[in-house]
Amino acid sequence: MNCSRCGAPMNVVKGQTYLHCEYCGGYDFPDPNRDGVVLLDEAAPYDCPVCKQTLVLASVNEVRIYSCANCKGNLINQEVLLLILRLTEPRNWVGDLPAEALDRSELSRKLSCPSCKKIMEAYPYGGAGNIIIEGCYKCKFIWLDYGELSRVIRSYLQIYDHPSGEQGAKKRSILF
Ligand SMILES: [Zn+2]
Ligand SMILES: [Zn+2]
Ligand SMILES: [Zn+2]
Repeated sequence: MNCSRCGAPMNVVKGQTYLHCEYCGGYDFPDPNRDGVVLLDEAAPYDCPVCKQTLVLASVNEVRIYSCANCKGNLINQEVLLLILRLTEPRNWVGDLPAEALDRSELSRKLSCPSCKKIMEAYPYGGAGNIIIEGCYKCKFIWLDYGELSRVIRSYLQIYDHPSGEQGAKKRSILF
């Protein structure tokens, strides 16, 4: 990411989601994408399972994840995903929810785990359906294509908003 004022390459401020320009001293605050994710300009130790380019560090609700600057997919540790869901307050949620039907073709897609390189398992997300997520049980990584994180968060918030009833009680125990 380059400085919006002088065009120089910028550095991520440690532990923050904004960037600092050492040349002009300015700061840039990148906007979150529709998954609520802010991509940072720091390389991650993994490659994108879809387009193979190096993932970058990213932040959602101040929690660090890995994202692809090209396809905007997200690589998230299972426990980190649960943390993101717990930290998401409905009123702070900025992403939108695209109304999309379940894409069954994703069930037959073969993506390798960016860590152990084994083929990840594809399965429908247990919460509210309509999402196929891919994950590696061994490495505890989950791959979410662009737009899927916002749908997971949105379906979690629906449960959070309506915790009563049989459906709500069942849905509250979200498993991946
Ligand atoms: Zn600058
Ligand atoms: Zn990618
Ligand atoms: Zn793995």
